[in-house]
Amino acid sequence: MINHSLVVLNSISGRKEPFKPINPNRVGMYVCGPTVYSNVHLGNCRTFITFDLIYRYLTHLGYKVRYVRNITDAGHLENDEDSGEDRIAKKARIEKIEPMEVVQRYTVDFHEILKKFNTLSPSIEPTATGHIIEQIELIKNIIKEGLAYEVNGSVYFNVLKYNETYDYGKLSGRKIDELIHNTRSLEGQSDKKNPQDFALWKKAGPQHIMRWPSPWSDGFPGWHLECTAMSTKYLGEFFDIHGGGMDLKFPHHECEIAQAQAINKKNPVKYWLHANMLTLNGKKMSKSTGNNILPLDIFTGKNDKFSKPYSPQVIRFFMLQAHYSSILDISEEALDASEKGYRKLIEALDNLSRCKPGVEIGEFNTNKWLKNCYKAMDDDFNSPLLIAQLFEAVKFINLVINKHQPIENSQLKVLNDMLPVFIYDVLGIDVVKKSSSRTEEKLNQTINLLIELREKARNNKEFETSDKIRDQLEKYGIYLNDGKGITKFTFD
Ligand SMILES: [Zn+2]
Repeated sequence: MINHSLVVLNSISGRKEPFKPINPNRVGMYVCGPTVYSNVHLGNCRTFITFDLIYRYLTHLGYKVRYVRNITDAGHLENDEDSGEDRIAKKARIEKIEPMEVVQRYTVDFHEILKKFNTLSPSIEPTATGHIIEQIELIKNIIKEGLAYEVNGSVYFNVLKYNETYDYGKLSGRKIDELIHNTRSLEGQSDKKNPQDFALWKKAGPQHIMRWPSPWSDGFPGWHLECTAMSTKYLGEFFDIHGGGMDLKFPHHECEIAQAQAINKKNPVKYWLHANMLTLNGKKMSKSTGNNILPLDIFTGKNDKFSKPYSPQVIRFFMLQAHYSSILDISEEALDASEKGYRKLIEALDNLSRCKPGVEIGEFNTNKWLKNCYKAMDDDFNSPLLIAQLFEAVKFINLVINKHQPIENSQLKVLNDMLPVFIYDVLGIDVVKKSSSRTEEKLNQTINLLIELREKARNNKEFETSDKIRDQLEKYGIYLNDGKGITKFTFD
C-alpha cells in the first residue's frame, strides 16, 4: 500500500514535493498543540482536524506513524513574544485558582471537544511543564554555541549572531533587515540586546507561581523552546513532518528552527505543513470584536451566530470539504449545505447495504473511481476532491437503488469495501453506524443533544437540571454511561 505517489505542500519550499519519509515505512509527525488557558476555539479545531486527516491517511497507507502533539501549559506570554503576563498565570489570577487548575480544566475541555470531532489521540501528548529539565539542557547548549546570552536572570537567543551563519526567516520568508526595521523597540522594558531576539528563559517575578530553578534564575522557559525539546526527544534531531496553524509560522516555528539548528547544526524538519485560517461570516474570528464562536455553542445551538445547532460530524465534514491550505469561511449557509451533503453520504451507505449483486449496468467504473479517490488524497491530502469522488459513488448507488437494478459483483465489492473505509477511516466521519432508519438517526441526535445539555449543566454545577435529564431518560428506558470524556447511551 505504501507505494503511493503522495505529494505534500512543503511550506518551507512553497512547493509540492514527493513524500519520502526519512526512515522507510515510518513517519514522525510533530504538531503544535493548544495553550490550555481557555476553551479550544474553532480555528484551532480546524488545525487538529487537518492533522487528524493526515495522520489517518498516512496510517491507512501503511506507515507506522508516531504522532506527537504537545500541550503548552507554561511559558506562553500574552503577546506571543516576550512581554506581558503568562496566559495561564493571568487566567489563574483572574479566576483565583491555581495555574494547574486552569491547565487541568482546559486540557479536559480540549480532549472532550476533539473527541466529539472524532479525532484520534496522538501517540504521545507531552507537556511543557513535564520537560523543564530538557529545556534547561537545550539553553545550556545554545549558550555554549555562543548563540544565547543571559541578562538579569533571563536568557535570550541572539538572532543577529545566528543569522551570520544560518538563515533566520527562511520558513516565513521574512528578511532579517525587515525584521530589524519593523520590530518595535521596547527600550527600557526589555533586557534584550536586540528587539528581534527571543526569550529562552524568563526570570519569574515574585508573584509568578509557575517557576522552576535553573542556573540563571527561578523562572520559566520561553514558549518556543518546549517544541524543540519535545520534538527532539520523541522524534529525533531530524524528523518528517512538523505541523501547526498558519499563524505559528512566525515567530514560533521560525524560532524552533533557529533553536534546533543552533544546537544540532542541521535543519530539524523535512516537511513543514500548515493549516490555514477559519473565518466566521467572512471576517477573522476574534474574541475582542465578538466575531467568535466556541465549538460547544455550535453543537448546542446556544449562540447568536446560527439559528440552529450543528453536530460535530457536520462541522468536521464541512471543514474537510475545503483543502487545509486554503482559508475557509464558516457561515450558516455553508453549514446547511454541508449538513445536506453529509446526510446524503450517510444515506448512500445505507442504500449500499441494500444493493443486490447481479449483472453489470456499466454506468460506473469502480476501479477508475478507486484510483481517483487515492489520486485526490495523494495530492497533498486533498479531502474536497476525495469527497467529490465519494459523491460520484453516491450518485451511482442512488441511481441503482431507484431503478431497482443490481450491481455487478466485483463493483459491489469495491464499493462495499472502500466507501466505508474512505468515510470512516480516512475522513474520520463518525456515523452512527447502527442507525438504519431516519427516525432512529433523529432519536440518536436528540439523545446526544440531551447529553450535551446535561454536560453543560454539570459544568455549570446545575445538578438539579443534569440529574433531571438523566433520571427522566432512565424512566424512558434510556441509560447514560459516563465514560472517559464521553457519555454513551443504551436502550433497555
Ligand atoms: Zn510549537
